[in-house]
Amino acid sequence: MSAEPADAAARRQAPAVVCYPNATLPEPPLALYVAARSGAVEVARHVIAPRDAGAFEVPAGHFFRITCPQGSQVGDLNLFAAQDQSERFFSGKTRALHGSHVTTGARLWSCLPFLRPMATITADSLAWYGVDADGGRVHDVIGTRCDPYTHHLLSGGEYHHCCHSNLARALGAHLDRPAREVEHHVHDVLNVFMCTGFTRDTGQYFMKASPARAGDYLELFAEIDLLGVLSACPGGDCGAEHSSDSALCHPLEVTVLRPPEGALEGWQSPAPNGYSRSHGDPRETY
Ligand SMILES: [Zn+2]
Repeated sequence: MSAEPADAAARRQAPAVVCYPNATLPEPPLALYVAARSGAVEVARHVIAPRDAGAFEVPAGHFFRITCPQGSQVGDLNLFAAQDQSERFFSGKTRALHGSHVTTGARLWSCLPFLRPMATITADSLAWYGVDADGGRVHDVIGTRCDPYTHHLLSGGEYHHCCHSNLARALGAHLDRPAREVEHHVHDVLNVFMCTGFTRDTGQYFMKASPARAGDYLELFAEIDLLGVLSACPGGDCGAEHSSDSALCHPLEVTVLRPPEGALEGWQSPAPNGYSRSHGDPRETY
């Protein structure tokens, strides 16, 4: 342990500064979305089996609702631009912009160099949860996804139904390629319905039983044409463990909804980020 300097207390009193004040972030037109949603009709429904994953497409300007219809169940969500797997959800920057957990009004951002909203959360039946006594909140953009490599590292075993493998198989099935060839596209997730935080003493990532019950939902508006892949985590409600077949698991459901014609008057699908990409490189012509 290093010795504390004489002015340690003063150094610790430096004010906390929000890294990315988001006051200049363009506000999503939530009132427009809510109005468009009110007359929307279901155009597709996908059931995700427990300990498995499924792919689904959502055209820009449509909504998609993720539900746990039968009981508490955590979902690990990946998002891609529908025609380009190199544009994918950027969990880290979404966390930096909106905080460690997301709810209505937050946007899910794509990776660099695109950095545009892929989806906007328009409804969250668990928004009431807030923050609990342990510092736990719902729908995190902290966790990565349960995966067989970390499982092997910690236990030495083989387990094939971690979210990483489920997502890789489902993406592979959608693209008609083996899971092994597409698993590098699988990325850090939005942990839908998962209740997580960091322990105060050791700063370790913790999970606790999800407060989701049958019928709970998270609903999003697709800002661009999306390919989604959703895994029903083998941890079930993630109240005890994951990466095994011991937890009680339930299916998840994804419903895609189309708003009425003309309901999104004035809305435009966002273009990729406007930065020039020259990076100050003198070989670039300006
Ligand atoms: Zn998982």
